[in-house]
Amino acid sequence: MKGTAELLKEHELKVTPQRLKIISMLEKHGHINIEDLYQEMLKEFPSVSLATIYKNINQMIENGLIQEVKLPQAKSVYELIKDPHLHMVCDRCHKVEDIVIGVEKIIEEAENLSGYKIEESFITLRGICPECQAKSR
Ligand SMILES: [Zn+2]
Ligand SMILES: [Zn+2]
Repeated sequence: MKGTAELLKEHELKVTPQRLKIISMLEKHGHINIEDLYQEMLKEFPSVSLATIYKNINQMIENGLIQEVKLPQAKSVYELIKDPHLHMVCDRCHKVEDIVIGVEKIIEEAENLSGYKIEESFITLRGICPECQAKSR
């Protein structure tokens, strides 16, 4: 795995302590919403503002390092850009998980059917995760 600072430099982003922290949070949690990220950031940077975090996040999105994952009925989460994948969201515990599946095939077929050149996709599946299924038994 690449170093965090290297990752920033690769995406032409200045290496700052806050950006390093944001990336390490994304690596730790996989997906995180802005509120949770803000709460975590406050522990290390007590004077950081939500606006500053948004600014950093947006800059990192612009430079192709992270992406926003739009979720049905929940706040967006952010994640580091990785191989194409779908998101599974649990209706009970609201966790977000990646599932690596042939998204390219779906997109290719959608392009063929619609004639669109698809540039972005947010495919999310909702359901009950195995842990919550076990709990309700
Ligand atoms: Zn669950
Ligand atoms: Zn994801």
